[in-house]
Amino acid sequence: MDSLQLSIAGHCRTMPGSGTTCTEYTPSSHDALTDYSPKDAPWDVHRGQADDVGGIYSAAVDFERYAARMALCGGVLRFGWVTTPETGETALRLRHATFCRVRHCPVCQWRRSLMWQARFYQALPGIVEAHPKARWLFLTLTVRNCAIGELGDTLTVMNDAWQRLIKRQDFAPVLGWVRTTEVTRGKDGSAHPHFHALVMVPPSWFKGQNYVKHDRWVELWRDCLRADYAPVVDVRAVKARAPEAAQTASEAQASALQRAVAETLKYSVKPGDMTADEGWFLELTRQTHKRRFVATGGVLKDVLRVDQETNEDMVRADGPAKGEDDGSRLAFNWREGERRYRRAPKADIAPQSPNVNQKAGG
Ligand SMILES: [Zn+2]
Repeated sequence: MDSLQLSIAGHCRTMPGSGTTCTEYTPSSHDALTDYSPKDAPWDVHRGQADDVGGIYSAAVDFERYAARMALCGGVLRFGWVTTPETGETALRLRHATFCRVRHCPVCQWRRSLMWQARFYQALPGIVEAHPKARWLFLTLTVRNCAIGELGDTLTVMNDAWQRLIKRQDFAPVLGWVRTTEVTRGKDGSAHPHFHALVMVPPSWFKGQNYVKHDRWVELWRDCLRADYAPVVDVRAVKARAPEAAQTASEAQASALQRAVAETLKYSVKPGDMTADEGWFLELTRQTHKRRFVATGGVLKDVLRVDQETNEDMVRADGPAKGEDDGSRLAFNWREGERRYRRAPKADIAPQSPNVNQKAGG
């Protein structure tokens, strides 16, 4: 990895530990962010989607201000070279960017999802220590599709139903839960709102009278919704697949939980659904204004800290940095026409610069 990055023509970087800095920059055809850091390919994807979604907002008078904010989202990314102490591997790590934080911005939605997942994993060892035998369920609760113009009212009904559900006797043994709302677009232009919930239960859940069968979940959810139809419910225990080679049983269990966490804390609206039909998406924006799409309870109440969302939190969303860097910053900026990030050496910050902290923090 390291040698690959160093071999790319025209690249300048400070060699870790060597103190030598190349000050000449020669533009080359290999100066894309993905040339430096293939793992950062999602930046091009999500930033491109943000242009598409911003284009829809810019054509609607009510939402021009969203388009203006989104146009600047993640315009310049500054990375540091971080060497992981254990492996000696050096990789780019985001250190500075400015996010628009428009709710449906595909870049911000992605960073927020990563941030929540990272917070969940940071809290997990403590939770497992306190409840070593806890098990997990992945629950999906749906309602019938509604017209996009009725989405807000439907979400109100669903939220009220969830409040009833968690007070039901069947739910009493539950230790904690994280619930998110997703809205997908039906082929006929309707809206399909549904909840994903990760539910933490004691081991006794799977024994005897505590166990809630699928049929019972359908019945419970129908009652709580006060619906006259049987809603679609999916419930499954988060179970490890057979451990892969060199994987212990507990590692296999952890990766099963990781998949369920990622599924629960993903985007709330698929970018492809946002851009499929402009009218649908603008109405969705109106219908979901100021509505919360994440809720938590029980021992998982504080794991996500959804109200704490600073720009810095979004920068560090990929988890706590392992290893330090020398303070130099390698800049990339968004090239709208090419739909990719490329080097922007004028925006670099040299190591030892007295303004590093000021600039990097601004
Ligand atoms: Zn954004």
